[in-house]
Amino acid sequence: MSPGTEPRDDPAATTGTVLGAEPSDVSHDDPDDTSDAPAPAAPALAGHRLTLVPTPIGHLDDVTVRALAVLRDADVVAAEDTRRSRRLLDHYGITTPLVRLDAHRIPTHGRGVLAAHAHVAFVTDAGTPGISDPGADLLRLALALGVHVEALPGPTALIPALVLSGLPVHRFAFEGFLPRKGRERRERLAEIAARRTTTVLYEAPPRLLATLGDLSAAAGGDRPAAVARELTKRFEEVRRGTLDDLVLAFAERPPRGELVVVVGPAGPGEATDAAASAPPTGEEAEDLARALAAQGAWGRDLRAALMAQGVVRDAAYALATRFGRRPSS
Ligand code: SAM
Repeated sequence: MSPGTEPRDDPAATTGTVLGAEPSDVSHDDPDDTSDAPAPAAPALAGHRLTLVPTPIGHLDDVTVRALAVLRDADVVAAEDTRRSRRLLDHYGITTPLVRLDAHRIPTHGRGVLAAHAHVAFVTDAGTPGISDPGADLLRLALALGVHVEALPGPTALIPALVLSGLPVHRFAFEGFLPRKGRERRERLAEIAARRTTTVLYEAPPRLLATLGDLSAAAGGDRPAAVARELTKRFEEVRRGTLDDLVLAFAERPPRGELVVVVGPAGPGEATDAAASAPPTGEEAEDLARALAAQGAWGRDLRAALMAQGVVRDAAYALATRFGRRPSS
């Protein structure tokens, strides 16, 4: 077993094990030999278990069967916001007790909760605990205390936003929330501008316009991008275009709800999912435009799709005008 791998079915089995110490490393021949290291103390909470449970980011049906079983079987559900999580548990008829464990309480109450219950299920407001929320802090605390940890796969906002953006997905970077101001923000913006892979960001609606403006200033207004809003909810919407298109669109109509920003890569080298293939030019770009138009793409959407595939801006404009026809309805 390599460090960091643990059997899934017996949480207590590996706690206290000294990785890499084989029985043959220890001599039992000489009773006077006191050079052996003392047996390591058992981790504080060996035998206890923490499961990070992803919850829906909007649509209640997006919870997994396993997540529900864990929420039902755990001794307690620790939640960032118990009122919000109560609604989910009630919807599925789950009566496991809830306890509040938000970012402020993890340092003061985290150990107590993990110690008081043999199996703690942890949920955040929405999505996968550990992704831009306090889940990672609780996980680190649990690891330090020798608690067996599990993270279930499940809903998260970044993956559907990335995929729906239409931008290259074979390599991407996740930035979470940008720093709000100062040098750190400027440095992160410069990194995104220079990055040759797609970038995914979380942002709050009141800050979207400023962030799109800053991204446009750093990366250039014609960088392809997308804003995915209210994913999995009734008013789900994905806007695709250049950063400047998006600035214009959201200046006219400020966004509401929750959103994810996706920014395309710098330069053409990484611009298609056929990894590292050259960007389409000439006939290849025409074929691509024709194929997309034949499937109903037109106008700004066609232009954005071509640019997302690496077609340079001017060519994308020209091809969208030539091949894209407004569908007659
Ligand atoms: N742990 C969560 C996850 O796995 O996605 C993210 C937690 S973070 C505190 C909340 C941010 O996620 C929101 O500000 C928004 O950027 C994004 N988000 C959450 N739900 C969303 C949704 N339904 N549509 C778009 N973005 C969403």
